[in-house]
Amino acid sequence: MASSCSGRGVSESTAARARSVMPGGVNSGQRSIPGLEDLVITRARGSRFQDDTGKEYIDFHAAFGPPILGHNDPDVAAAVAHAARTVDLCGVGVTDAEVQLAEVLVDLVPSIEKALLTSTGSEATFHALRVARAATGRRLVVKFQGCYHGWHDSVSLNVISAPGRVGRHDPISAGILPEVLEATLVLPFNDEDAVRRTFEAHGRDIAAVIVEPVPHNVGCLLPTPSFLQTLREATQKHGSVLVFDEVITGFRHDLGGWQRISGVTPDLTTLGKAIANGYPIGAIGGRADLMDMFSSRPGGPAFFAGTYNGAPAVVAAAVATLTKLRNEPVHEHIFGLGGRIRTALRDLYAEIGVPAVVTGYGSIFVTYFMSGGVPRSYEDLLANRGDLFVGYRRRLVKRGVFELPLELKRSHVSYAHTDDDVDRLLEATREAVLETLQ
Ligand code: PLP
Repeated sequence: MASSCSGRGVSESTAARARSVMPGGVNSGQRSIPGLEDLVITRARGSRFQDDTGKEYIDFHAAFGPPILGHNDPDVAAAVAHAARTVDLCGVGVTDAEVQLAEVLVDLVPSIEKALLTSTGSEATFHALRVARAATGRRLVVKFQGCYHGWHDSVSLNVISAPGRVGRHDPISAGILPEVLEATLVLPFNDEDAVRRTFEAHGRDIAAVIVEPVPHNVGCLLPTPSFLQTLREATQKHGSVLVFDEVITGFRHDLGGWQRISGVTPDLTTLGKAIANGYPIGAIGGRADLMDMFSSRPGGPAFFAGTYNGAPAVVAAAVATLTKLRNEPVHEHIFGLGGRIRTALRDLYAEIGVPAVVTGYGSIFVTYFMSGGVPRSYEDLLANRGDLFVGYRRRLVKRGVFELPLELKRSHVSYAHTDDDVDRLLEATREAVLETLQ
């Protein structure tokens, strides 16, 4: 039996069956976590989930971000059940709920004049780059080290790199054509000079710049005040398309996304995760002239399709989620708890004398075990002590508090989390860190 940091030891049959019929026994490379090989989830509600031994975890992983309201939110679940009883999937025409959702996106997100729905964030970023290439007739895409935009080939490089690979093309997957990788230029996040130099050298060939305005795929790198504005100016000057990938930041940090916080408006925006509280959805929106190039408009040259795009149950989940985000003090609650966690963690690490940088934004928090100030680029994060980062989280999981025990992953607070949940997190963190340091 594989060792388990969830403290389990019995009833591995589901996990064993999974391994015999599914490669690795899980449905995503990001769920292949050392120590959690036997974890079988049976229930999730509010701030918690349960495994098949009956053990309960307070969940700060939150499925990489979607359940912003908490698991199985009753209003979302009711909307999904109603939709499922009303219309499942017809694959033709449009439903009123799809229009409502697009109207909300147009209303809330500054860059979005028109929107289209996909089933995942990866599809949204794929289509953003495709339409940018269609509109500009250009080949190159610029991305930033530490940013993740999904699993498709153009962006599948330079997310988490070993020290020796930073600054070199570093694909996350085998099987990608070299010419596809070569068409993606990778720059350090927050490096305005690198952006200017790259545009001077290649500006006429750059179709798009794609960026997580806050790279949360390596925890949290906050943009310097002028970095996003530099991207805006360079892309405008050279006729390239600026894409903000707000799959994580969208709706979690602000109803208008990071673009509303920063005041920098991209040409295209991609969304996902928190829109539908856990149901599979993505969205792309932006300038009407670019969006009108998609083949959903007759004659649009950029092919756009998807059997499940706009699936009624998923759209109902999104409409219910966004309605609640607009009508209830969700952000006030999750920002309050997030702020409390960051402050208390800073105090904790100062008290026990561990070099640590506690950072994040709003409902997102992460601790890097390193000295120095707030990190600004992926390279800064190479100083993080991975043994401590992963080690204390493994011990947290044993204590029934779930932060993903994987390098550089962020944690999330939802509307369902309470002050008691945070008390438990802080108490368990103290114990877990001290035990890891022994
Ligand atoms: N963009 C960002 C910023 C993401 O974090 C992710 C997923 O983690 C994606 C795109 C891809 O979304 P999905 O996993 O829904 O395909």
